[in-house]
Amino acid sequence: MKAYRAAILRFSDDQTPVYDPDGLLVVGPDATGRRVVRAVGDFRTLGDRFPGVAVEDLRGHILAPGFVDLHIHYPQTDVIGAPAAGLLPWLENYTFPHESRFSDATYARGVAEFFLDELQRHGVTTALAFATSHPSSVNALFEAAQARSMRLITGKVLQDRHSPDGVRDETEQSLIDTEALIQRWHGVDRLGYAITPRFAPTSTPEQLRGAGVLAARYPSVWVQSHVAENVDEVRWVTELFPQARSYLGVYADFGLLRERAIYAHCIHLDTADRALMQQTGAAAAVSPTSNLFLGSGFFDYAAADAAGMRYGLASDVGGGTSFSPFHTMLGAYCVGREGQTKTGLSLTPGQLWWQHTAGAAQALGLAGVVGNLQLGCEADFVVLNPQATPLLARKTAQATSLDELLFALIVLGDDRVVVRTHMA
Ligand SMILES: [Zn+2]
Repeated sequence: MKAYRAAILRFSDDQTPVYDPDGLLVVGPDATGRRVVRAVGDFRTLGDRFPGVAVEDLRGHILAPGFVDLHIHYPQTDVIGAPAAGLLPWLENYTFPHESRFSDATYARGVAEFFLDELQRHGVTTALAFATSHPSSVNALFEAAQARSMRLITGKVLQDRHSPDGVRDETEQSLIDTEALIQRWHGVDRLGYAITPRFAPTSTPEQLRGAGVLAARYPSVWVQSHVAENVDEVRWVTELFPQARSYLGVYADFGLLRERAIYAHCIHLDTADRALMQQTGAAAAVSPTSNLFLGSGFFDYAAADAAGMRYGLASDVGGGTSFSPFHTMLGAYCVGREGQTKTGLSLTPGQLWWQHTAGAAQALGLAGVVGNLQLGCEADFVVLNPQATPLLARKTAQATSLDELLFALIVLGDDRVVVRTHMA
């Protein structure tokens, strides 16, 4: 066992932040040997209950749950910041040519290591990531994550049409490869598999049907895709699947909406779509910096809450512009404020932080496992320095409430705030 004395941030079951200015976090193995939170709370109350346990003094720092990134593309690490006129030209001119290089396992391994270094440096301890259509890209990322005992979920991209040579796969083989990867990796150590149709336009109905069959056969496996990001894309889907009620309806028709199904963007949904998200237990990966960068639109928080659908935050690198959860939370605040195309609202700092930790974990079906520092949670946490820059030090010193402290970190923070990232 080991203990840490610092300010501690965590979340109660009703999503409100709980903060101990002088707290103690005790971590150690549980009955199955997983490294978990054994005690957490006020230092004066807990301090003498663990005699003989070494306490690292981190006063002046904040311990917080490791961040959970609900949607990110590891092969797009080098596509970040690519100039393009919107989503479809961006895919064609930058993303697909780049992803074709991941058929080379050595190349994939190199990017996987850099990618995980970058997540860790930014305090992200759980990620739901796209690989490419090449099984070698999946193996490379799983092997790298396993070596770090990181909780990581990924999958081979399915795209058997409207994709150039080099990334397009073959319908039957793509499903055989997917099932083989599930059997090899899902549930091994902290790894999980996600069935990963890129998005409806790049899969034939046969491939989507096969993905749905696998999603039913392996209910603990995740599903990830994109939906309703941009109006041109929505129009294209309507042409390709004229019988579907809506873009989201395509996924419903093929059995791809269920618990543990995460759909990036969910911008151009209607009321019936949001109700379907809620009824099926599927969740949205809200990707604000990507949506602002590509000019796709604004996630409607008020409508999502009215429907009771689940969501959490995601960087969506490389459409997203930063690995930093702080930049993503600030982007989400700006997206929430936007009031020309939908109801504008002010998300509280606690809500923003929850969406990128406990809320994202809940969307994944991993509430109480990651994304929080409640008793029994896996001990993934970050050590944050609220004085990391002169302006942050000045600003956080003047904070008179938890909201002011957290918001200063959200608006002014980046990787300089993250002193250390601990993975269970
Ligand atoms: Zn994406």
